[in-house]
Amino acid sequence: METKLYHCAECGYRANVLGGSDRDHEVKLKTMVCRQCHAVVDAVVARLVPGETEFGIPIERWHAVAAQCPTCEKSGLTPWPIARPCPRCDGEMDSQ
Ligand SMILES: [Zn+2]
Ligand SMILES: [Zn+2]
Repeated sequence: METKLYHCAECGYRANVLGGSDRDHEVKLKTMVCRQCHAVVDAVVARLVPGETEFGIPIERWHAVAAQCPTCEKSGLTPWPIARPCPRCDGEMDSQ
């Protein structure tokens, strides 16, 4: 998973995040806004759960989980809008 460094020219806030969503073989991550931390974070939104079909064939499925802030561990995160607003000053954040 590749993260990008986003920078707010207004207040100098920086965040190294995906800027969207991505997955590996275990979890799905999405860039979300935490209002508690005034930060953008990559939070786990789903986990791959192994299981079986009724015929006993192994199958993995995505199980959605409530996104939790990795910093303060609170839920209630909101997706980071496409306009990439800064969570501190609402300025526009640019990736480098
Ligand atoms: Zn800012
Ligand atoms: Zn937080």
